[in-house]
Amino acid sequence: MKIELLTTNIKSNRIHAQRPKKQKNVKISTKATQPSKVKQLSPLNPTSAAMPPLMWPDSPKQKNVNTKTTTSQPSKVNKTPTAKSALSNKSTKPKPMPSTTPTSTPTPNTKPTVLTTVGGKPVGYLPSKSVLTASPAFAHKELTDRPILNLGDACPFSCTYCYQRHMAFKRVFADGSFVNHPPALQATLIATGMDHQAVVLKRCGRSPGETGLKLLEQNLKDWQPAEKSRKIVCFTSNAVDPAGNMADVEETALALNQIFEATNWDVRILSKSDLLPKLAELVKEEFRHRMIFGVSTGTLDDDLATAIEIGAPLVSERIRSLHWLQDKGYRTFGMICPSLPQANAKAYASFSKDICKAIRLGQCEHVWAEPLNVRGNSTQNTINALMGAGFTAEADALSAVTGPGTKPVWEAYAQATFLAHTKNIPASKLRFLHYPPIPTATSRFAITTRAWWLSQVVNGAIVLN
Ligand code: SF4
Repeated sequence: MKIELLTTNIKSNRIHAQRPKKQKNVKISTKATQPSKVKQLSPLNPTSAAMPPLMWPDSPKQKNVNTKTTTSQPSKVNKTPTAKSALSNKSTKPKPMPSTTPTSTPTPNTKPTVLTTVGGKPVGYLPSKSVLTASPAFAHKELTDRPILNLGDACPFSCTYCYQRHMAFKRVFADGSFVNHPPALQATLIATGMDHQAVVLKRCGRSPGETGLKLLEQNLKDWQPAEKSRKIVCFTSNAVDPAGNMADVEETALALNQIFEATNWDVRILSKSDLLPKLAELVKEEFRHRMIFGVSTGTLDDDLATAIEIGAPLVSERIRSLHWLQDKGYRTFGMICPSLPQANAKAYASFSKDICKAIRLGQCEHVWAEPLNVRGNSTQNTINALMGAGFTAEADALSAVTGPGTKPVWEAYAQATFLAHTKNIPASKLRFLHYPPIPTATSRFAITTRAWWLSQVVNGAIVLN
């Protein structure tokens, strides 16, 4: 009976998380997504009461910001810029910070906030060996020089193309260890057929009371001193969003301060949220020049992004947060992915041009881009979500490049996307990620395709296996 009730709740949460079907001819939404509700289990550290509220850029809702609620999902600004306005640097330029905004370094809580639910998803704490790992695969993508920080394994958001669903499910739940989680989380996993995206998983140590941050302290001790003193880049995150809500932001800020104190590294931070300005201001001032911020922008269409990036803030809000960071002199990078197939060469050209303008290419140190990543059911889930939200043309275009016998058209989509970007993004900045087919002795198509991509490395292609 309990399980049946939970199933109903979960379904109902999802229904609320989805936006209404797309109206005819409506391309850009001006509506903000509803913020996820975050239930707090333990009170904030009392020292946080002295912390002034962080504000960016000034908005009517900031009047209501309360220090006691800074660990909850942030209020959405009332005046949401449209994707179209995100194209204009002038119209989206954040206003000056209000005088109440802290000018000195804010003090983050010394302990991470513990949550039991985020956006209706129960939260579990997964005993882990590490939150800081070395990843040659992500080094190949040039997102990191090897170190990767992951403070969790299941994200507050529910992107239809998320490959973590596939990977984490296999790694985390296949051994049946979910039975060690809190009852609500166990019940949700059972009720949803072990749906990884129905829950939020944070990492903790294996000893009682060992938090993810404590684990990080230990992990940092295990890295070779010579490597810690090198000027290299760490990446966060590939398994979860490091700024999915304010509790995540505070925990990530504490983790970054630890990393900056213990190493000489810079950290590249990628998010689908609009909270990176808050993260920036929670990191100690002396370390802020060592952060490089980026937000995912695979499309500029708010409705389209909302259909496939369920629960994430509007893409126009992410771009607004990126502009705020740029205007304040923070280092930034672009992340144009995943991008969907376009109708024709002209559409690919304007897609690339518009996004480069929106992210202010000139102010991005590098720009990563890639087509949709095919993992597990990610493509079919995305097609279904596009259909469900009324993006029939986009769903059909994705269907046309998916399935048996479609490798050549998938390649045409990837190459058209790449070539469009090469017209706007200098090779020195572009990092276009692509997995061409693996050549075999009999596959002429795979051999010639890989050879073509290898010939494009000079123009910014990164050929993955
Ligand atoms: S934000 Fe990233 S990790 Fe989270 S659901 Fe989306 S793709 Fe997955």
